[in-house]
Amino acid sequence: MHCVGEHVDQVEPERRGESRDKRLAILGGDPVTAKPWPRWPSSSPATQRALSEVLESQRWAINGPADGRPAFGALFEASFASYHGVAHCVAVTSGSAAIRIALQALGIGYGDAVLVPGLTWVACASAVLAAGAVPVFVDVEPATLCMSPEAARAALSPEVAAVLLVHAYCTTADLDAFSVLCREHHVALIEDCSQAHGALYRGRRVGSFGDVGVFSMQQTKVLTSGEGGAAITSSAGIADRMEQLRSDGRRQRPDARPGEESLEEVGAVQGYNACLSEFQAAILHERLGELDQANAIRERNARHLDACLADLGLGVPLRRSQHCERATYYKYCLRLHLDAFAGRPVENVCAALTAELGLVFSPIPGVRPDSKQSALQPVDGQARDVVDGAS
Ligand SMILES: *Cc1c(COP(=O)(O)O)cnc(C)c1O
Repeated sequence: MHCVGEHVDQVEPERRGESRDKRLAILGGDPVTAKPWPRWPSSSPATQRALSEVLESQRWAINGPADGRPAFGALFEASFASYHGVAHCVAVTSGSAAIRIALQALGIGYGDAVLVPGLTWVACASAVLAAGAVPVFVDVEPATLCMSPEAARAALSPEVAAVLLVHAYCTTADLDAFSVLCREHHVALIEDCSQAHGALYRGRRVGSFGDVGVFSMQQTKVLTSGEGGAAITSSAGIADRMEQLRSDGRRQRPDARPGEESLEEVGAVQGYNACLSEFQAAILHERLGELDQANAIRERNARHLDACLADLGLGVPLRRSQHCERATYYKYCLRLHLDAFAGRPVENVCAALTAELGLVFSPIPGVRPDSKQSALQPVDGQARDVVDGAS
């Protein structure tokens, strides 16, 4: 059983007053802490200045008229690529859009299958379907919640054209094993880093190992602009196709003069509009500068929480994969020992924790055979193609 808590940035014991009502908060008692948690999402005066700059400019969109200054979209793309040590980044409206442009730029679509983890956010499967390919669900490792390399190997077939490897919740996936598997079988590797911005594997940032690294910048992710996403790659060809897919077959014009449109028609690829607005790009560009520091605080607090929980016997934290040198804790997860809670269902334990701590705790939502996820509820022709390879 798993529980997920929102952004644990500080964990401190609370002083208890004499008059405290000691019943569980869910039964009407006083919660163990009433201390406010750090605000999320967080911003700074620099974020506000960047937003005002966009507001007062006449370029709110990627294709707004050039005004002699670099667009925030281009600034963010350059800084996010360099943060990962890769040459290219294409910013998009969501993590789902990032997965879709990555697959399409790799030439993956009708007739192809893509391995996705059996426990992950539904968008991993629905984005594969949106690209015209079929998601094949693969079991995850219970201890890390990342896709199992052995199960992935067993799920390979001639139709499998890519692995969408998610670095899940509190760790990075086994990149050594998946790099070998994908190379041996001539299958593309797409790293989904939507839960692992800034995580390190063998000293390198995740997202830079696969053919493409994809990110969501939706509100719950550790780097966010409310909604948003990005795809990174070292390949100029893949980047060019992803850029055109993202912006209706157009490409940025570095030489646009003031007043001219910032994009030019190329038309080599039929795209659609998945462009990030300048407001979102401005937020991401500013917040990226604080990501490493915020991740270090989360990691320190998570390790402290791991140690406290080890003494209580109520559950075990997820295990880190070998070679994960910085975990980023999109959400703090633990596997509860439900017998320590008199066999109460996980939903009840989560509701009690939520009342006690003032943070939302929930079982992990996943694409599970017993779930109501739309990928598994065939409502149209697309969804009927879903293959369930998970046991
Ligand atoms: C959040 C998430 C996505 C989807 O991102 P959106 O921005 O909501 O489209 C995809 N994959 C994983 C692993 C995620 O956590």
